[in-house]
Amino acid sequence: MYITSENGFFGDYGGSYVPEILRTAVDELAVAFEKYMKDPEFLAELKELQRDYIGRETPLMFARKATELLGGGQIYIKLEGLANTGAHKINNAIGQVLLAKKMGKTRIIAETGAGQHGVATAAACAKLGMECVVYQGEVDVRRQQPNVASMELYGAKVVAVKNGSRTLKDAVNEAMRDWATNFETTHYCLGSALGPAPFPDIVRTFQSIIGQEVKQQAAERGIKIDSLVACVGGGSNASGFFAPFFDDTEIKLYGAEAGGTGPELGNNASRMVGNAAKDGILQGYKSRFLVDDDGQAQETSSISAGLDYLGISPQLAMLGKTGRITFDAIRDDEALNAVSFFAKNEGVLMALESAHAAAYAMKLAPKVPKDKAIIINMSGRGDKDVFITSPVFRPESWKDFLRLELERLESNKNVHEKY
Ligand SMILES: *Cc1c(COP(=O)(O)O)cnc(C)c1O
Repeated sequence: MYITSENGFFGDYGGSYVPEILRTAVDELAVAFEKYMKDPEFLAELKELQRDYIGRETPLMFARKATELLGGGQIYIKLEGLANTGAHKINNAIGQVLLAKKMGKTRIIAETGAGQHGVATAAACAKLGMECVVYQGEVDVRRQQPNVASMELYGAKVVAVKNGSRTLKDAVNEAMRDWATNFETTHYCLGSALGPAPFPDIVRTFQSIIGQEVKQQAAERGIKIDSLVACVGGGSNASGFFAPFFDDTEIKLYGAEAGGTGPELGNNASRMVGNAAKDGILQGYKSRFLVDDDGQAQETSSISAGLDYLGISPQLAMLGKTGRITFDAIRDDEALNAVSFFAKNEGVLMALESAHAAAYAMKLAPKVPKDKAIIINMSGRGDKDVFITSPVFRPESWKDFLRLELERLESNKNVHEKY
């Protein structure tokens, strides 16, 4: 059995700290979720979308050369990056948008930081015929144009949030505000395994397809699992990958956080490693947060945009505290090294987020016996990171390329005006 919350709490963490005006919305959602997760018709539709639209199941690949080179446990990679839209986020988005449709909602809102959850939600809404509005901080809208362009292609409206630091946490606040006003017609599709209850349970449940498939794939092929490794931003891919194994304490669970450029406060996004994060209540739930003594958000830093949120899934925080999950912080340079290593040796281009898990597995492998397996969840593929990896791996030719692009645009040549 999966470990779910008790009345929305995971030990001391979790809960549903929302203003009175949102109480009806979260209560209605909790009831509907419980109802539809037992509804055969809903489950059949979800399964069909997972198979034909997302492209499930995703492969569990033996990384033969990586295993030889690292000289220890067998390395396997769960290729979630092959899911439609390029990452695991679609598992949650499709689940929630279908649930909202069953609830009679016609409009979906979402928050997004780097834009990955916005893209997944916009795609799911296009597929299921729902209106979609994505809140994104103005700073993020400007620096994440490729994802903004994709969201708009999928027909979503992207609203640039101009409050506060104009980044992810401000987008969450704005989405909450919209939901409070419009919940009769609108569902808030939250993007990670956090926020007020019942979201952590909902998101983990829709992502658990990852761990369920791994369990079955490993059993069919006689793979003896020693450990599972996932990166942890908000905690959705890790939750879904780990959940079917929570009770199987023979199997070790490792979470890789963003170690950024080093352990000093502000240079990373480590909520579980080090002692910079504090217990607190923010954005509707109790967990560990990177805040100062006045509860104000601390700066975070990571080369991977998906791992730099200041909070973490309350369930993962609890499981870290009890020792069920071991956390480590992986630095930017270690993640970049893992991107190169798995690209060259396995032909797999990992997202920078996923590369944090891969980098941890590289350190772990020599300590694991050769007849046992380490499974890495490749939460996403790395095509989206070309604007970050290219300036690092080949800065001069990338600058030249950008200059050329700008010249081309300014001279208006080759621009397909008729579209
Ligand atoms: C968003 C994202 C993450 C981090 O989010 P979680 O909720 O921690 O899974 C990790 N990998 C990829 C590819 C992402 O897009």
